[in-house]
Amino acid sequence: MVIIPLERLLIRLRQPKTRADELAALRVRLRAERQAEPSAEERAAALEVRRLKRALADATGAVTSCSECGKGMPPPGGAFAGGHCCSGRTEDLFNGDEVAMLAQCGTRPADLVAPRTEHAGCAFRAPTHCTLTVEDRPALCARYACNDLRRELFDLGRLDGLEALEAQLDDAYRRFSKLRASRLDDELLNCSRSI
Ligand code: SF4
Repeated sequence: MVIIPLERLLIRLRQPKTRADELAALRVRLRAERQAEPSAEERAAALEVRRLKRALADATGAVTSCSECGKGMPPPGGAFAGGHCCSGRTEDLFNGDEVAMLAQCGTRPADLVAPRTEHAGCAFRAPTHCTLTVEDRPALCARYACNDLRRELFDLGRLDGLEALEAQLDDAYRRFSKLRASRLDDELLNCSRSI
C-alpha cells in the first residue's frame, strides 16, 4: 500500500508534471487490469495481438519516414524531428482494450519506462525513439502507418506483406475486444445480481 504513493513521488521527482500524472494514471490502470481473470480464449487473442505487433515491427524494418515527419509541425507533434504520430494523448493511445491486452500478456508497471526529456505527446515519446519495447506498446502503434511511411514501404517492396499482417492484427484485436466486452458485461450482471 505504501509502494504506490512512493512510486508516484519518484516519478514526480524525475518527470515533468504532465508526464508524471499520465504515467501514474496508466500504471494504476495496468495494475487493475492485472487483477482480471480472462478466459483462455480472451488471453489467446491478446497473445496473438502481441505476436503480430512484433511481426509488424519486423516486417516494417528500417525506414527513414519516421525520423523527419515532425519537422516544421506545431507542438507537440513538431517538438521533435520525428515520431509525429506519437504526439497523441497517452490516455487515448492506451485505451481500455490496449491496457487489458498488455496486462494479460505480462506487461508490468515497471516495464512502462518513460524518457526524461520534454513531454511532447505520448508519455513514451523520446526525441528519436519510443522507450517501450514493441511488445509493451499499444497495438495501435504497430498497426499505424502514415501515407509517407506506406509510400516508402511500397518502394521497398514491403507493403503487401505488412498489409497482410495488419489484417491479421485487426482480426485478433476485434476478437479480443468482443470477448473482453462480453466478460465485462457478465461481471457487471453478476455484480448487480449480488446487490
Ligand atoms: S507507445 Fe511509443 S510508439 Fe506508441 S505512441 Fe507512445 S511513443 Fe509512440
